Amino acid sequence: MLRGTCHCGAAHWTLEGDAGAVTACNCTLCRRYGVLWAYDYVDGRIQVEGPTNSYTRAEKKAPSLEILFCPTCACVLAWRGLRQDARGRRRMAINVRLAPPEAVADLPIDHFDGLESFNDLPRDGRCVRDMWF
Ligand SMILES: [Zn+2]
Repeated sequence: MLRGTCHCGAAHWTLEGDAGAVTACNCTLCRRYGVLWAYDYVDGRIQVEGPTNSYTRAEKKAPSLEILFCPTCACVLAWRGLRQDARGRRRMAINVRLAPPEAVADLPIDHFDGLESFNDLPRDGRCVRDMWF
């Protein structure tokens, strides 16, 4: 199980099982936060505990997700989908940057072009350690 905590320790997430690849996205939001995402579903393998506030994109009339952050230290813990998919699930992702470095250093990076094409880009062999150190 992987665990990530905010800087002040008030809130944390856990992810059961294999984190798989983590996603670096260049959209206007992810780029600013500098986050790396590992995905699952609400009430699935991800749990978030402790106090969080949420932010939805101010420019969107019907935002598809909310960002969860610690109200004390402002670390971004997760995003959570606001709508269900066809199978009744809500997507969720945790910010791998809150995990201990050695626990996630070798996870491969998927690059997602959330800024323009909204497509996955080919893997380039980088892993979390290459983004971080
Ligand atoms: Zn905190």
